[in-house]
Amino acid sequence: MIINTFGIMGISFSGVLLGVVITAGVLTPLILFIRHNYNQAKESANDLGSITSEKLKSDVILNAIGDGVILVDDQKLIRLFNPAATTITGWNINDAIGLDYHNVIQLENDNGQPYSDQECPINKVFETGASSNDSKSVLVTHANKRIALNLSVSPLVNEDQEVVGAVGIFRDISKEKGDLERRAEFISTASHEMRTPVAAIEGYLALALNENVSRIDTKAREYLLKAHESTQLLGKLFQDLLTSAKAEDGRLSNHPVVIEMGAFMEQMAEALKFSASKKGLMVEFVVGADTNTIDASNPNAKVVHPLYLIHADPDRMREIVTNIFDNSVKYTESGKISIGVTGDEEVVQIRVADTGPGIPAEDVPHLFEKFYRVDNSATRTVGGTGLGLFICRKIIELYNGRLWVDSTVGKGSTFFINIPRLSTPEATKLQSVEATRSPLAPV
Ligand code: ADP
Repeated sequence: MIINTFGIMGISFSGVLLGVVITAGVLTPLILFIRHNYNQAKESANDLGSITSEKLKSDVILNAIGDGVILVDDQKLIRLFNPAATTITGWNINDAIGLDYHNVIQLENDNGQPYSDQECPINKVFETGASSNDSKSVLVTHANKRIALNLSVSPLVNEDQEVVGAVGIFRDISKEKGDLERRAEFISTASHEMRTPVAAIEGYLALALNENVSRIDTKAREYLLKAHESTQLLGKLFQDLLTSAKAEDGRLSNHPVVIEMGAFMEQMAEALKFSASKKGLMVEFVVGADTNTIDASNPNAKVVHPLYLIHADPDRMREIVTNIFDNSVKYTESGKISIGVTGDEEVVQIRVADTGPGIPAEDVPHLFEKFYRVDNSATRTVGGTGLGLFICRKIIELYNGRLWVDSTVGKGSTFFINIPRLSTPEATKLQSVEATRSPLAPV
């Protein structure tokens, strides 16, 4: 007997879910509901009344929710498609059921390129067995319209932990994305326009403070110095606002090349020493940690460390390290700042450690959010915008990396950056592509 657990689908997928155990994930409540209904219907296969009432509940919920729901079996065929899925995709239920999901859920990236199987969130769930949530996909509807989609996919696994299906829940987020884009556009335009007069005010205040140009009394100098400092901060705020708006809508310029982080960070540490020394802070640079090898027979031997190769834009990497280092200088009263580069086969790790005030545990989860500043006596007197670490996080995400902090109040903070590491053959291949690219060609 075929049990049509979800009446709206038009055909049964009872075989698909037989013996299926559902993994936890973003779709947990709905998936649990699907499993519950399935089990209930199975247990009372001879009880028509019970089946009908379970079917009714399923229908009510799946018909009522505004999110599209799709169930794909292990042959990649659509076995469930709710009315909201029809509204979003334009495919009617009877046409969609039984089709390969690629025909109905046609996804592209935001550059208009169709997803390969490796990129497709539904396929990834079959490959990896892990849930995913994606807000970057664009769906090409039945009428060839393109809409921004939020798509969460969870695997259905059997008792042998094999993925036998996937449940996707999706939502049209074109309006939210449009609102966000308009807000970012406003912030960029406003900060761009305001940077110019602020730069002019800062310039005139600098002239007024220059003893070779202007004569002012001590009291006026004191006021102008304060005005100058605040104007500099305002200029930095507009610059950071502009950068963060660009980072959010993907307009941040990014020209990745192969970088050897050992040498890159050594140069940066050398350049950054200056600002730390003005505050009497020592700067230490360590590369390779215990993986260094030294040829002891050669007195002129240099430390040989492995090549820490990554693919990133040097300007963006400089921006991140400078930001984190400047924070260490800003918030540390005495002691040292140590910069390190190390890595394993997968990642290159950069760390910046200081002996500053540390960050309370309750603030750490919010530290990389926009405008977040720790509110305590150690930071209240130090100027800042609360945008620096947010921008750093956004840039690191461009390179599929990770940024986090380990901190102990009263002892100091260590910021870590992990970026995917290139093997030497991968780097050589990328370098030969870079060499063939004309300097004027768009990248
Ligand atoms: P800000 O412009 O305020 O420095 P950031 O986004 O760079 O903005 O940093 C966010 C907050 O994190 C800072 O306001 C500060 O409270 C805290 N913070 C960042 N780096 C450090 C550090 N090295 N030591 C202590 N607190 C820090």
